[in-house]
Amino acid sequence: MQEKYPRIIFFGPGRKAQVPAREYGNKAAVLATMANLAIPVPPGFALNVSICEEYFRNNRTLPPDLPDMLQEGIRWIERAMDLSFGSGRRPLLVSVRSGAPVTMPGVMDTILNVGLNRETLRGLIVMTGNPRFAWDSYRRFLEQFGTSVFGHNPKVYRTIVREAMAGEDIDDEAALDFHSLQEIAGQFEKVYLRQDGRPFPTDVGEQLACATEAVLSSWMSPRAEQFRRLNLVREARGTAVTIQAMVFGNLGAASGAGVAFSRNPWTGEPGLLVDFKFGAQGEDVVSGDMEVATQDEFRQRLPAEYSALQKIAAQLEREFGDMQDIEFTVQEGSLYILQSRSGKRAPYAALRIAIDLWQEGIIFRDEALRMLENIDTNTIVLRRVQSANPPLSWGISASLGVASGRIALTPSQALRFPREEGIILVRETASPDDIEGIDVSDGLLCARGARTSHAAVVARQMGKVCIVGCRDLTISPERHLCRIRDTALYEGDFITLDGETGAIYAGVGEVVNERPDALIGILQSLKSG
Ligand code: ADP
Ligand code: MG
Repeated sequence: MQEKYPRIIFFGPGRKAQVPAREYGNKAAVLATMANLAIPVPPGFALNVSICEEYFRNNRTLPPDLPDMLQEGIRWIERAMDLSFGSGRRPLLVSVRSGAPVTMPGVMDTILNVGLNRETLRGLIVMTGNPRFAWDSYRRFLEQFGTSVFGHNPKVYRTIVREAMAGEDIDDEAALDFHSLQEIAGQFEKVYLRQDGRPFPTDVGEQLACATEAVLSSWMSPRAEQFRRLNLVREARGTAVTIQAMVFGNLGAASGAGVAFSRNPWTGEPGLLVDFKFGAQGEDVVSGDMEVATQDEFRQRLPAEYSALQKIAAQLEREFGDMQDIEFTVQEGSLYILQSRSGKRAPYAALRIAIDLWQEGIIFRDEALRMLENIDTNTIVLRRVQSANPPLSWGISASLGVASGRIALTPSQALRFPREEGIILVRETASPDDIEGIDVSDGLLCARGARTSHAAVVARQMGKVCIVGCRDLTISPERHLCRIRDTALYEGDFITLDGETGAIYAGVGEVVNERPDALIGILQSLKSG
């Protein structure tokens, strides 16, 4: 059969590519569009979704032409970057990214820093003059490859890192020093021997093939199936694979990784909303495990990158005619965009954004109306808690609304409580693995995490009230107890989350409703044309 679309497509500087999302996934389609617009994206290539279909049709066998395709793709990136995959002098590292036609944030696998072994590690040190960075990248790769590709238990890795952090008396992973990182990497290498004896593949071609297969098979992971079921994703063929040159947010003090919304996804207010972590790679921000810098700190320390990001966000809004959710990395003063998609938003924000985009001339009247088609504007209210008692504490609000319910400290406990009385899932940090528990809950409260963490994105999308990064919250699941400042709360006790202010109240709070009358007035005049 003659295929209409090639099995592999390339994108990057100097290459105009037509990349339909249906064939190469949303991620690659947008990356190629950005490259065409001269927005800085690392060069890369994507494998057609049909390869994933074939892989499962043939009982999880990789297609025979895969090695050639990977080789051809890598050659393109090598030329574009003037680096060489597997080289001990100027090594190229790549990310192997999942990406279906429908976005599934954090649900499938992505593996970063592919192409590292002891030899290329030396090359990376020579090339950058930065051994701390090289060891940091290596230990990250060992952990991600071990857990995602070989299915190692993540706890084994996390314990080693935690012990190293305790040894240095620090609580931020990004602050680990060179010696600890080297020590951690050495211990990680040994994990491969202990876990199931399958050795770490030092051959970079083998690393790439294994990572590609892991990404393909993550399409059928229980987590991915659950996501599709709960989000009613139909017409799903499989995932594409995007392989792209790495850029490094962990290279130095003027580097980092972040997520930006082009407008506020809860209130719709115009202007960037940024979570950024200095000295980190992408997953550190979205995983929800780590503290991030404030937006002001990011703007003050990297003013040029901040304004570049503002310009690009505006450009992307015009191109795609919608508010954008953007993943980016700054590598020693250079900004790179790694992903952009329409941002998930609360109904109130949807109303404001559609009207603003129309008034700013970014979209037409009927596009604005279409954006609001599935939203019942009569039911849009800003809900706030009115309480005689002060809040127990505040966290970072990650989605609007008010929710009250019984505290559940585990997803399985959430599944056991009756739904009618409301359920609030209270976690140290939530992961997309908790999706079933989030689904039955009315709200999610996390001790750690950022507004842009995957779990927050998922919770928001499912219409749940979500507060993250509540530093006063400590949890002892085995004692069925949590503490917010001095107040002890047992599993089954009631609390209330106010998504407007990020406040957490004991008991069931009284709610007041405010309607966005001015915006609804504009909408009515839009409708009558
Ligand atoms: P997901 O679909 O789960 O968001 P991604 O493929 O977007 O997974 O990747 C996970 C994280 O790694 C994101 O923060 C992304 O920006 C980052 N990332 C992916 N590829 C690269 C790369 N080539 N260089 C630097 N960071 C990357
Ligand atoms: Mg992503």
